[in-house]
Amino acid sequence: MSTFRFQALQEFTTRRAERFYPTPPRISDCFGINVFNQEKMKKYLSSEAFEAVRCAVDDGKKIDRRMADQIAAGMKTWALERGATHYTHWFHPLTDATAEKHESFIEPAKGGGAFENFRGDLLIQQEPDASSFPSGGLRNTFEARGYTAWDPSSPAFIVEDTLCIPSIFVSYTGEALDYKTPHLKSLQALEKAAVKVCQYFDKDVDRVQATLGLEQEYFVVDNALYRARPDLMQTNRTLMGHAAAKNQQLEDHYFGAIPSRVMAFMKDFEVEAYKLGVPLKTRHNEVAPNQFEFAPVYTEANLAVDHNQMMVMLMRRVAKKHKLKVIFHEKPFEGVNGSGKHCNWSMRTNTDVNLLSPGKTPRNNLQFLTFFVASIRAVFEHHHLLMASIMSLNNSHRLGANEAPPAVMSIFVGKTLTKVLDEIEERVGNKKMTPDEKTTLKLDIVGKIPEILPDNTDRNRTSPFAFTGNRFEFRAVGSSANVAWPSLVLNAAVAQQLNRFSEAVDKLIDKGVKKDEAIFQVLRTFIQESKAIRFEGNGYSADWVKDAAQRGLRGIKDVPSAFDALLEPASKKLFNDMELFSVKEIEARHEIQNEIFIKKLQIESRVLGDLAINHIIPTAIRYQNLLIENLRGLKELYSAKEYDTLTSPQIDTLRTISTYIIDIRTLVTDMVKERKKANAIDDIRKRAATYSNTIIPFMRNIRDRIDHLEIIVDDELWPLPKYRELLFLR
Ligand code: ADP
Ligand code: MG
Repeated sequence: MSTFRFQALQEFTTRRAERFYPTPPRISDCFGINVFNQEKMKKYLSSEAFEAVRCAVDDGKKIDRRMADQIAAGMKTWALERGATHYTHWFHPLTDATAEKHESFIEPAKGGGAFENFRGDLLIQQEPDASSFPSGGLRNTFEARGYTAWDPSSPAFIVEDTLCIPSIFVSYTGEALDYKTPHLKSLQALEKAAVKVCQYFDKDVDRVQATLGLEQEYFVVDNALYRARPDLMQTNRTLMGHAAAKNQQLEDHYFGAIPSRVMAFMKDFEVEAYKLGVPLKTRHNEVAPNQFEFAPVYTEANLAVDHNQMMVMLMRRVAKKHKLKVIFHEKPFEGVNGSGKHCNWSMRTNTDVNLLSPGKTPRNNLQFLTFFVASIRAVFEHHHLLMASIMSLNNSHRLGANEAPPAVMSIFVGKTLTKVLDEIEERVGNKKMTPDEKTTLKLDIVGKIPEILPDNTDRNRTSPFAFTGNRFEFRAVGSSANVAWPSLVLNAAVAQQLNRFSEAVDKLIDKGVKKDEAIFQVLRTFIQESKAIRFEGNGYSADWVKDAAQRGLRGIKDVPSAFDALLEPASKKLFNDMELFSVKEIEARHEIQNEIFIKKLQIESRVLGDLAINHIIPTAIRYQNLLIENLRGLKELYSAKEYDTLTSPQIDTLRTISTYIIDIRTLVTDMVKERKKANAIDDIRKRAATYSNTIIPFMRNIRDRIDHLEIIVDDELWPLPKYRELLFLR
């Protein structure tokens, strides 16, 4: 691809984008207009129906058929007024995407004509065919039906002409086939455990919600160039491509001016997001060229996940208008930073207290410490399960790649809080504390936390799980992940620790220990037992990997072994105790993860093989022919002696190219053989391991040869847009 031609194309589109971009509407005029939120419910529902939705959201009460009819009618009236013609149950199957099957509101009327209809049963439940979604053997073909059911805690919304109803997705026999169902259960478990603990500190607390603020990183490329890269189109990442001479060395992209073409897209996207009630707050350039980030203001966890999925869907759509392509893959380009989705996680009470924010009084702070320490212990006990929940083929290219969190879990808490935890450990002995000791601990240590806690400045960006002043930031989550999965593991693990905490405290109180002292004693045990997970140093350093192993922290060897954490007794017990998954369901999920891993790798390996044989080798040969022609011409013009000196570079190049061609052909042939062998393995876990051990190295080696060829072969002949063309939008 000629670079000049490409630049001309880009500039044309940039000018168009600038010229045709209308002034955006005021945020307050458009915010939430496409969402059936409380305000609209009040307008379109009877007070009785409104109350039914509120009870379903707040207390998990069932909505009966009569009420459902009323709600559906109100929703329909609103949707038709906004121009909707269709509706869909919108859900998150166990793939990377969301699913929707559109149904028209149309119902033929007797005697001709038609009217729009939407009954309560259609709102509450749908029966899409489940057989085309991953189920890990949970669904037999004779009961291929699955159910989607409305999740009233996430409001319905309109995209273009379709009313989308956020839903859960379960099999005919009741097993969850999606991310939302277990996520909602984890939120319930966390709430129950957290309310109980809050009661030690504040009797007014009767609700606790997990909160999530998701920072989404992504790449943007020109759509025409994207379509000229079969690897990007089919696998969402480049399987080959030599680094551009200038990529991110100068660090001039981070927080720099956003390219005008991308800005036009972002503005458009933001307006649509506001209409969907998503409060986007920040936008900026990320470290890599063409990499950007947006983050909405945090909200309740289930809604935050839905919003994130909606944004992914929306961005794809809006980008099309701007002739751009948004890439959510964790590592689309080698040699530049990958993309993550940082999960900022905390808990909030009905009294509007952030449980991970130090408060004004020693009592508040003790409550903060309790939730803080319980979270640390949760991550410690289930660190490998948390890693499993964020692991995927995509994310494995990013983790530990010197720009992203390492493939081993640790928590950063900062100097101040380390000191507080150390003090508690030291001062609270096994013996009873004197009143003086207790007062000093409460007033001088716990009471002073907010004053001494530096806000946000004490940050460690190399930690996969960092405390950032009033929340934890789980940074290892991948950009294309459905956050419900890591979130549910975290919620369940913290709920388990909170339950243990209140059990232990109650036991001590029963023995006659005073409440505060009991709390301190249990905190001390928790702090001691979870110490190994706390790490304040450089997470990207090689020493840390060794140190972590000595501490008994388990890193990730390869993707399939990471998934195995799901099947360990401690994980099964966690899921069972918190009532998230049956053993059968968790085994099914393990199988699905392996299946997806294999399929993705198989596709990548096929695409790479095809490109190598059909695009790269023929191009290399064409360039060899040019050289050969040139040699023939030189031979005619020069004497034999002169010819020899003049042509030695061409001869060398010819030879080098031949070596690469032979290498590539052999490697591709062998890779195909290995794939065939692997495909014959019945056991899916073993098949995944074989794929991981054999196919990945082949792909790396093939890429290496191709990338070398790329810098030898004539640029005019090279069939694929190069990194320098893909990565520098203006
Ligand atoms: P940074 O890049 O410094 O991490 P950003 O402002 O880009 O910060 O993103 C921080 C995210 O954390 C935002 O989505 C913000 O709303 C969220 N956040 C702040 N407080 C909380 C909280 N208590 N619970 C969950 N998320 C939070
Ligand atoms: Mg952040």
